[in-house]
Amino acid sequence: MLGLYVHVPFCSAICNYCNFNRGLFDADVKARYVDALISEIGHQKSEISPSADTIFFGGGTPSLLEPDEIARIIAACESAFDLAADREVTLEANPESVTEARLAAYRRAGVNRLSVGVQSFREDELRRLSRLHSADRARAAFGEARAAGFDNISLDLMMWLPSQQISEWLESIDAAIALGPEHLSLYMLEVYPNAPLKDDMARAQWSQAPDDDVAAMYMAAMARLEAAGLVQYEISNVARPGRQSRHNLKYWTDGEWLGFGCGAHSTRAGVRWKNVSSTAEYIEQAQRGGALATDVRHLTPDEQLGDALFTGLRLVDGIDGNAIQTRYGVDVWRRFGPDLEPFLEAGCLRRDGHRLSLTRQGMLLAHEVMAVFV
Ligand code: SF4
Repeated sequence: MLGLYVHVPFCSAICNYCNFNRGLFDADVKARYVDALISEIGHQKSEISPSADTIFFGGGTPSLLEPDEIARIIAACESAFDLAADREVTLEANPESVTEARLAAYRRAGVNRLSVGVQSFREDELRRLSRLHSADRARAAFGEARAAGFDNISLDLMMWLPSQQISEWLESIDAAIALGPEHLSLYMLEVYPNAPLKDDMARAQWSQAPDDDVAAMYMAAMARLEAAGLVQYEISNVARPGRQSRHNLKYWTDGEWLGFGCGAHSTRAGVRWKNVSSTAEYIEQAQRGGALATDVRHLTPDEQLGDALFTGLRLVDGIDGNAIQTRYGVDVWRRFGPDLEPFLEAGCLRRDGHRLSLTRQGMLLAHEVMAVFV
């Protein structure tokens, strides 16, 4: 079944490290953007509605949309797609933008999973990242989400922050575990060349920990999370049993998805495309009924195979060679074995019957291993 991604490009302030497609919140622009989204989704209507079972509101800060706007977008999806009764509907939320009443209204609108952008439970780190919320606000938001009835909550944390020590990173991990979320995503901070954070770091003489420490942070975090019942299922993601992100799994299991909104990506039937990135251009094109997709690419069978292997290896379960053989007619080991062998010998890869997966050690070198497939 399809996954539906809805991009919301508005934020209350721009974080100093951010490289996403987003801009400052403006109520008028937001109202027109929601109309544009509904119009784009409406154009998907056809005689036979395609089946979909996940909706993911990502951003930006989707929790800046009003609950009734979220409800209208979900209704548009319901009318254009055959949405599964047990659909997963995720909303990314920042702690400072929610209250219990607002969260309860999102729930009534049809959202059943929250992904909360916490990033750190340490005040100094949150300030360094120019985040708008405090650690206490993040804890309070989690409690409000529970009180509003959310029983499927994911938290985002970031590691390798400027000046962050291993013990400080583990403080955030412990604080997250103490809240008892169903899911956790751990991201490594990437400092982009033009990020204001880069200048902040130079001025304050903050640096990121050496590679050995990052590896120790990752290993220790995964061990603690696993001990707390949060099982790793992807390089950066852990979950309680049955609480993996069904939407994100589509990206890693060779699935298909449609993206709505500015800059949203789609992959379907061997074709990949991206919508226009600019919010203003997106709204204008949607109003005129113009083409929103740019960069339309028909993937060759080899590109599709490469993508399936590249993304599949992110999963702890790795790649199922039999499934690849059936779908692409390729014996993975015969085609890539000589290039993969050194990683197997180095303990980065595991070969178990027809399955090929990264070891946890190998996950730290994932990009080097994955480069074999592209
Ligand atoms: S809230 Fe997220 S999307 Fe918005 S500026 Fe900060 S990091 Fe970027």
